[in-house]
Amino acid sequence: MNLRDNITSLKGIGGKKAAVFAGYGIETLEDLLYFFPRKYEDRRCETPIGDLEVGKDALFCGTVISKRYSGNPYKRNTPLTVLVQDDTSMIEVVFFQGRYIEKLFHMNEQYSFYGRISSSFDRLQCIHPEFHKAGDPADIRGILPVYPAISGISQNELRKLQMQLRPLYQEVEEWLPTDIVERYRLAGPAYALENMHFPIDGRQVLSSKYRLIFDELLVLESGLFYIKNENRDDSDGVIIDPASAAEFQKGLPFALTEGQLSAWKDISGDMAGPKAMNRLVQGDVGSGKTVVAEMAMYAAAKSGFQSVMMAPTEILAKQHGASLKADFAPYDIHVGLLYSSMKVSEKRAVLTQLASGEIDILVGTHAVIQPDVIFHNLGLVITDEQHRFGVNQRRLLTQKGKNPNVLVMTATPIPRTLAVILYGDLDISQIRTMPKGRKPIKTTLADMERRARVYDFVKAQLQEGRQAYVVAPLIEESDKINAKSAEALYEELKDRLKPYPIALIHGSMKQEEKDAVMASFAAGETKALVSTVVIEVGINVPNATVMVIENSERFGLAQLHQLRGRVGRGSDQSYCFLISQSESQLSKERNEIMCRTNDGFEIAEADLKLRGPGEIFGTRQHGLPELHISDLVRHGDVLEKAKDAAKEILTEDPNLKSPANAHLKQRIKKMFGDEIKLEL
Ligand code: ADP
Ligand code: MG
Repeated sequence: MNLRDNITSLKGIGGKKAAVFAGYGIETLEDLLYFFPRKYEDRRCETPIGDLEVGKDALFCGTVISKRYSGNPYKRNTPLTVLVQDDTSMIEVVFFQGRYIEKLFHMNEQYSFYGRISSSFDRLQCIHPEFHKAGDPADIRGILPVYPAISGISQNELRKLQMQLRPLYQEVEEWLPTDIVERYRLAGPAYALENMHFPIDGRQVLSSKYRLIFDELLVLESGLFYIKNENRDDSDGVIIDPASAAEFQKGLPFALTEGQLSAWKDISGDMAGPKAMNRLVQGDVGSGKTVVAEMAMYAAAKSGFQSVMMAPTEILAKQHGASLKADFAPYDIHVGLLYSSMKVSEKRAVLTQLASGEIDILVGTHAVIQPDVIFHNLGLVITDEQHRFGVNQRRLLTQKGKNPNVLVMTATPIPRTLAVILYGDLDISQIRTMPKGRKPIKTTLADMERRARVYDFVKAQLQEGRQAYVVAPLIEESDKINAKSAEALYEELKDRLKPYPIALIHGSMKQEEKDAVMASFAAGETKALVSTVVIEVGINVPNATVMVIENSERFGLAQLHQLRGRVGRGSDQSYCFLISQSESQLSKERNEIMCRTNDGFEIAEADLKLRGPGEIFGTRQHGLPELHISDLVRHGDVLEKAKDAAKEILTEDPNLKSPANAHLKQRIKKMFGDEIKLEL
């Protein structure tokens, strides 16, 4: 048996089951070994029935003294109550599908049960426990692992498979330097694996989990360090004189806000110095980040350098392209636009002008990181909505210049500690003030009964010349189903909002179709836009004053906030309606927060409290590799240590050439996949 063997080499796994496991990313024995329990059941000791505590899981044994149906006994789904007694007390054991179960219990015989203890009218109850007849060899006394569900595979099967893997533990050798193992008091990897799956007590689980979390975070941090090292020596950065930006600032039709001024102060300081800028600007949607970026690009152009701005979607890239072209038109600064679906001839023209230096500013999608994109002298790299890009994409873009200044803009307010991890050594500026004269968006919650009134209001706004967005929820990975639900809404609203022309936009439409719809909405020809969340990122139509979100319970707070940010961009009062049919507490709290505040930072904090860090900071949405056992926020203390250890290892051996680090290198490669190119 070898770690790299396919799991079909295990007893009980054939092609069909292997395919099921593959769907969960488990293909080799090693993958299965690192598939850890999500919790444990403590079945070491039996609790006397008299000592059972309501609300806790417990193992208890007793004699069946009665069996009783609480309805028509000839119906299949009639609940069955089995009364179980020991020396201390009695408990009712309830099964809802009683008919199947009844014959498994014999009067006056002994059984063991494991389940959650509850109570009903002062009587102890246990609903749907797992049970065994006394003496059944499967009735284990110990700590049992409970694995994340794999469809069609029972917990018992999963446990048996893990039992088969036990001889493999010894194959997993210590791969960290002794010095680090000792200093951070780490358990050995073989010990950690064994005790994650088959612990004897809780302390072993803790030390094992610590080791495995440490490993995972060490690999993550080492990978990030590696990327950073290879990436740049930023002591010799492009120097841009920021003074000229004052001319551009004077030409703006408004005064900069306090937040914009302080962000600009940070940026201009960075650009003027010999160390390349590496800065993250956080600011709510509409806080005016783009204007600040424009000042930086203006200064770069006047200092003789090119800038590039990368946006996550074509719609957004085009929008930025159009507004930058307009904003820079008076200044003899040339803006080029690049995206993958452009005509080859157009693309070629842009690339030629870029290489010759005719284009001062390039705006585009991922297309700008392609190898055929060559700059004349790139001095400033800007990414918008950074959390949508991978680590590697940022790196590739930076490598297009000789130590260019880097500016990252994001509307996702993330806590500083986390930002430091995600973006490495980025300095952070926050824009927390909104432009003057902007009226806070009024947010109202509406249930299904008041839904009709919401659309009456929408119609009244259209009558006044305003525009509206209506969003239908997107169900992940089923864009087609979702497009249909947006479609149904579109059909309904076409009628309701007559005579105003409305349009539909969704993810499975062709790019040209989407563009045409957006263009017509931006031009004010289409009055209302029914969409899925494709409009979530960055679209700017100041005349739109109403945002209606249907089934708002299906969206997270951050997403609701992003969506709401589509309106309130002009001087007119804007409105947001959350239409929800959910009674759940979570959904109520979310709605309450949305109605109470417009401050993205406050909403982010509330979101953190409501959902817990794991869900919000799913690493994927930040462009980091997926983590299996660790949580960047919850395990912040381990992360700090793993980071120190990673720094140590990589300072000593920057290219991981030493044989002692071969294993680490391999793990980095596995974790980062295509994101990182390590010579092996
Ligand atoms: P962000 O990129 O942060 O979402 P934008 O830079 O797109 O925000 O700005 C949103 C809108 O606000 C734009 O129409 C912009 O011209 C305008 N704006 C930006 N700064 C100010 C300001 N200081 N005063 C008034 N309007 C501003
Ligand atoms: Mg923006």
